Amino acid sequence: MQTFVTEAVDWPETAPDLREQVRALVAAHGERDPVRRANCWTKADAGFSKRLGDAGLLGMTWPTEYGGHERSQLERYVVIEELLAAGAPVGAHWIADRQSGPLLLRLGNEDLKRRWVPAIARGEAFACIGLSEPNSGSDLASVRTAARRDGDGWVLNGQKVWTTGAHVSHFMIALVRTEAGSERQQGLSQFVIPMDAPGVTVKPIIDLTGAHEFNEVFFEDVRLPETALLGTEGDGWKQATAELSLERAGPERYLSSMVLFLELVRYAGARQDMALQQLIGRLTADAWTLRLMSASVAAKLARGEDPALEATMVKDLGNSYEQAIPQLVQAAADFADADAATLRDVCFYLLQVSPSFSLRGGTREIIKGIIARGLGLR
Ligand SMILES: Cc1cc2nc3c(=O)[nH]c(=O)nc-3n(C[C@H](O)[C@H](O)[C@H](O)COP(=O)(O)OP(=O)(O)OC[C@H]3O[C@@H](n4cnc5c(N)ncnc54)[C@H](O)[C@@H]3O)c2cc1C
Repeated sequence: MQTFVTEAVDWPETAPDLREQVRALVAAHGERDPVRRANCWTKADAGFSKRLGDAGLLGMTWPTEYGGHERSQLERYVVIEELLAAGAPVGAHWIADRQSGPLLLRLGNEDLKRRWVPAIARGEAFACIGLSEPNSGSDLASVRTAARRDGDGWVLNGQKVWTTGAHVSHFMIALVRTEAGSERQQGLSQFVIPMDAPGVTVKPIIDLTGAHEFNEVFFEDVRLPETALLGTEGDGWKQATAELSLERAGPERYLSSMVLFLELVRYAGARQDMALQQLIGRLTADAWTLRLMSASVAAKLARGEDPALEATMVKDLGNSYEQAIPQLVQAAADFADADAATLRDVCFYLLQVSPSFSLRGGTREIIKGIIARGLGLR
């Protein structure tokens, strides 16, 4: 049976300088509303993404030929960890830098790579993920959006839903059916769809906090050139599920509530309250364990290994941690205190959005099923 083996991560010598660089960039961006700093990897700020691009902190591991900086996976990890811990508004470029860019570099034709990858690294092109549909979430193999050949290109029709950031994105990588009459995992392909293509309509979905983060996206006779096909026709299922590993591996899967944790430390500092101290001790120990597990995944990726099972375990445990923090803070703090206003605001925001933490990127039940299979239990 495979087990999760954590390891002492050999952090790069450049890590301290990189941390300072990121902290300075975030500080120069100015103090931001603490509520907006929570769950920050969904908060889009194109200006901040451009600043990161100008500083060489996007596309860090990619070839210089495509605008990257050929730095190590662990250097990239240091940067994204610092950004998330600070609650920086990284949502605009997050998906493009995390998964769309690497996917394009691995599977894209020259046309797609030249068009999009350098622009992502400059912080100028943002991407969204077109997997879910009204009747295809966990059961992704039931996607119905379809592209059919037409002359030397394709015509696309259908609908995606829950598309995070579609309204700020320049392109979508979508999973669609390319073989008429095919079922389940067969006959699926991936396409790169410019969001300004005629026939693409984005409609906002407003969440219960009033925020606009995700959307419905409709495709009506959208014409795509042959070069819009990503990878191999019919290999869409294999390609999309491999991409999900990139989506599940990072520290964003346990750091979403970190700003609330920091607020808790500030609030507790002025009090002699043993219960609060114990809670902080417990949350610190859990954070440290998750960090070690998450960094182990990054170290394995850096060695070219495929830690898909370990990444899935980090997502599951990490989501439980970031969901637990607002509940524990609500139980421990006295929100009637005059100096608890910020703590309360951040906590109330996270209480509303945290149920989604274990939905996005794959629901808890599906993730547990993948872990069970990986451990040889089913
Ligand atoms: C904040 C957020 C952002 C998102 N962003 C994107 C995005 O950018 N792009 C995108 O494509 N999608 C996105 N999604 C969609 C997300 O991936 C889906 O919500 C998710 O895959 C679940 O699908 P569903 O909502 O259709 O639920 P369903 O699949 O209908 O599931 C409903 C419930 O049934 C359970 N269930 C389903 N099947 C099984 C099974 N076989 N065994 C046991 N239990 C099962 C589920 O775990 C869940 O609890 C986002 C979702 C959220 C919440």
